[in-house]
Amino acid sequence: MGIFYWYNLINNIIFRGNSMINKERLLSTFVDYVQIDSESKNEKAMSERLVKDLSSLGFEAYADESGKAAGSNGNNVYCYIPGTLDLEPILFSAHMDTVTPGIGIEPIIEDGYVKSKGNTILGGDNKAGICAVMEALKTIKEHDLPHRPMEIVFSISEEVGLLGAKNLDYNNLKSKKAIILDSGGNAGKIIVQAPGQAKIYAKIFGKAAHAGNSPESGISAIMVGAEAVSNKPRNYSKYWDI
Ligand SMILES: [Zn+2]
Repeated sequence: MGIFYWYNLINNIIFRGNSMINKERLLSTFVDYVQIDSESKNEKAMSERLVKDLSSLGFEAYADESGKAAGSNGNNVYCYIPGTLDLEPILFSAHMDTVTPGIGIEPIIEDGYVKSKGNTILGGDNKAGICAVMEALKTIKEHDLPHRPMEIVFSISEEVGLLGAKNLDYNNLKSKKAIILDSGGNAGKIIVQAPGQAKIYAKIFGKAAHAGNSPESGISAIMVGAEAVSNKPRNYSKYWDI
């Protein structure tokens, strides 16, 4: 997906289509960011740059220590922006790592599209999302727009197993709702559900009983297990009670 997808999306979400966003600035940030190498587990330069850029906008940003646990030289970047409106905080997130080959990316602009020049990916996934958030923040600042409290999380090593998100300090988060700028589709489309996977390891103990004297007081472990499995929901469900 292109940078303008995110431009339209953020424009719709935050500014309701009433564009104050600086397209040229957005594009130049994007071209700039994709040239910072940040393959998964090698996001040091990108995480440092994001802290610097958020700080230079006057926000308190810092890098956490998720890199150690994730096996990366970079860290998640976190920033809390107090609101000027008395509303619930909201979190915006995007990941800063890219897939391979993502070293030495040279972006070119052709026919209204940003493309990769050489044998690398472009890195639009997910630098486009990061740029959308950054441009929104710059616009808010520039026009002194009223806004709710916001939290920003730029995570590391998403492409290799969501390692940054897994090692994020969730106790620190204030928002109950988040918008993750990392999907395709038309501008304005928001995905609210996705398939997931849960592994359940269980030991089920039955209860022995004399087959002749009191078979009814026995409990079959297999029956209990079978009942649990057959109670598994067949549709999307938030909870599975067993
Ligand atoms: Zn992505």
